[in-house]
This record gives sequence, structure tokens and C-alpha cells, in this order.
Amino acid sequence: MIIDGKAHAARLRADVAQAVIARASAGARAPALAVVLVGEDPASQVYVRNKIAACREAGITSIEQRLAPDTSEAALLALVADLNADSGVDGILVQLPLPPQIDTAKVIAAISPDKDVDGFHPVNAGRLATGLPGFVPCTPLGCLRLLQATLGDLTGAEALVIGRSNIVGRPMASLLISASATVTVAHSRSRDLPALCQRADIVVAAVGRPEMVRGSWLKRGATVIDVGINRVPKEGGGTRLVGDVAFDEAESVAAHITPVPGGVGPMTIACLLENTLWAAGPRP
Ligand code: NAD
Repeated sequence: MIIDGKAHAARLRADVAQAVIARASAGARAPALAVVLVGEDPASQVYVRNKIAACREAGITSIEQRLAPDTSEAALLALVADLNADSGVDGILVQLPLPPQIDTAKVIAAISPDKDVDGFHPVNAGRLATGLPGFVPCTPLGCLRLLQATLGDLTGAEALVIGRSNIVGRPMASLLISASATVTVAHSRSRDLPALCQRADIVVAAVGRPEMVRGSWLKRGATVIDVGINRVPKEGGGTRLVGDVAFDEAESVAAHITPVPGGVGPMTIACLLENTLWAAGPRP
């Protein structure tokens, strides 16, 4: 069965929109998200456009800050400090990647942990790793939501996370541990990935290698969450998007699988809206 990420995301977005309306009728202003884009990376421009459109649809105010590609680290840090201090801003998102003259870790650390809707600040990463409430990165949060909606309780499930990035793999592993799954994390130095996949009831692939995970690697009846977004050449010209899993092969072995596109991507944006609502605080 294909897991319809678009439909799950639409429901979550509708819930957020309802909560924003309820807040407004109780006298609160709309939640506000500052979106900072440095430079002109084409993929980042698309992501930012989609995030801003989703905010608008949910009744969340977005404050767009576009900075030139040659913006200095000091100028970006000064903007983040202003946004931290601005009581009209609930959430701050600095779109990654940043240009090479800027130290990404420094910028992430400068965002107030209470406005860190991407959940990348070390304080929020630490909260997640220690099981405390905090902002959780949107992509792994969306994956967890899809898994729980599909499988219910994850207690005792054998879960394999492929990838150990701070944005996807590591927080995904923490979320699955907190959901009482038995978690294995594979990465570029892991041995015998097919054998690790064979054991897994749940596979979350976040590698960035087109169709690396083959259908023959999977256990029959597994649930597969494909985080990868890879653009590959199409027969006859042009390009198409594929995930990290060979979908056509995996679909006949897995019990449930997310498509690319239309799986994890829409949930990422819906979870950003949810995090922004949370950043705005409880209903007054
Ligand atoms: P990353 O490059 O930071 O991390 C990739 C991870 O894969 C690394 O930890 C590495 O150890 C591991 N890896 C590399 N080669 C491997 C191999 N042969 N075997 C096992 N592990 C291997 O990437 P990321 O930011 O975590 O993103 C991963 C993918 O997810 C990318 O395709 C990215 O575009 C996509 N992504 C999608 C969304 C979304 O909303 N759907 C969000 C973020 C990232």
C-alpha cells in the first residue's frame, strides 16, 4: 500500500488552520514565522516559496527576509538577533544550505531555542536526545507521524534508519527510540546494508543516493519511508525525481511505502506549520 503523504499532510495543515482560527477568536494574533533565504540556490527558492504558501493557507503570517548571496556572517547574525528580540516573530527559519562564507553551525546556535522551529539548535537536539519536550526537526517528525498513522504503536518494532545527518537520520533515530522501537542506524561506513535491511520491520532511508535501497534487500511486509529527493536524468531528456529506494521493486515487497514525490516532502512542510503554531504558545 502506498502511504499518501499528501493526504496526511492536508489533514495536519487543516488542523493547524483550525487552531489558528481558534486562537484568533480568543483574541490572539496569528502565529508569525520569519523565513530567511540567503542567496539564489534554485532548490532553496522553491522550498521557501512552498513554505510561505503553506503558511498563508494556514493563516500563519510569514515574514520573508531575502539576503544577497554575498551577505556576511555578521550581517546574518545581526538579522537573527533582531528576529530573536522581535516579539512579533514566533518562529525563525534560516533556509539551508548557506553560502560558504557563513558558518552554518554558528547561525543555528544564534537562533533562540524557543523560536527554533526547524529544531536544529543544539539545545533542541539535546532535548530530543534526552526525551524532553522541544522543537523536533520537521522531516523526521513527519516520518514519525506517517509511521504512527500507518502502523499505530511502534513498540518493539525493528527499525533501520539509513543516514546519520543532524537534519534527518539522528533525530529520526531519537524519535524512534522514544517510540520504543528497536533502532539501528546505518551510514556510509556501515557493513552489509542489505543484511541490516532484511531484519527491519521499518526502513527509513535518508541517504541522498538515487534508488540505492533495492527491493530484494527488504523483508516482506516491511514499512518503508523514503526521505530521499534526487533529481535524475529521464529517458528521452529532462529530469525526474526519485527517492533513495527503488520504488517499483520495493512496492511489491513492502506492506507500506511512501512515494517520491508525494510522501515525506508534504509532511515536512505540514510539521513546520505545526512547530510554528507551537512556537506561538498555547491558546490564550
Ligand atoms: P546528508 O548528505 O547530510 O546525509 C546522508 C547520510 O547518508 C549520511 O549520514 C551518510 O553517512 C549516509 N550515507 C551515505 N552513503 C551511504 C551508503 N552508501 N550507505 C549508507 N549510508 C550512507 O543528507 P540529509 O540532509 O540527511 O538528506 C538525505 C536525503 O533526504 C537527501 O536526498 C535529501 O535531499 C533528502 N531530504 C528530504 C527532505 C524532505 O522533506 N523530503 C528533507 C531533508 C532531506
